[in-house]
Parts: sequence; structure tokens; C-alpha cells
Amino acid sequence: MHILNDENGNPIAHGGQDKEHPSRTKKEENIALLQFMLSHNEHHAEELEEMAHQLKEQGMGDAAKKISEAVENFNEGNKRLSLALTLVKR
Ligand SMILES: [Zn+2]
Repeated sequence: MHILNDENGNPIAHGGQDKEHPSRTKKEENIALLQFMLSHNEHHAEELEEMAHQLKEQGMGDAAKKISEAVENFNEGNKRLSLALTLVKR
């Protein structure tokens, strides 16, 4: 669906496996993965918002409303991921 870049700027396919980073500590690994997942989810929330906008214009306001509600849930989840990230960084 979309291509993202990893922390080294290399393009990776959506859902691609993280490569091994033997020189990293577990903590660094956790931070990098959580950070990646958080920005990935935020990106999806933006895409869904855009989709809701388009569906509304196409006369599918009911579907658009459900997607908007889902985006609200995404945002709630992302807030919690952000808090988790803060805790993992300590
Ligand atoms: Zn994705």
C-alpha cells in the first residue's frame, strides 16, 4: 500500500521485517521499533482521514463517519503509544 523508510533512510515495504541490529542494545531496539510503529500509525490515521473526506464527497457519508470514528480511536491509541515510548526512553 505504501513504502516507508527505516531509520537509516532505506525504503522498506509496508509490513516489512525489521533487520537485525546486533550492535544495538535492547532499549535502543525497543525505542526504534516503537517510534517507527507510532509514526507509521499516525501516517495511517492521516490516510484514513483523507479517505473519509473522499467518501463523503462521493455521497457515502455513513461510511465516512465510521472511518472518522475509527481515526479518533487510532488517535487515542497513538497517544498511549507515545506515552509508552516516553516510559521506554527513561
Ligand atoms: Zn501501514
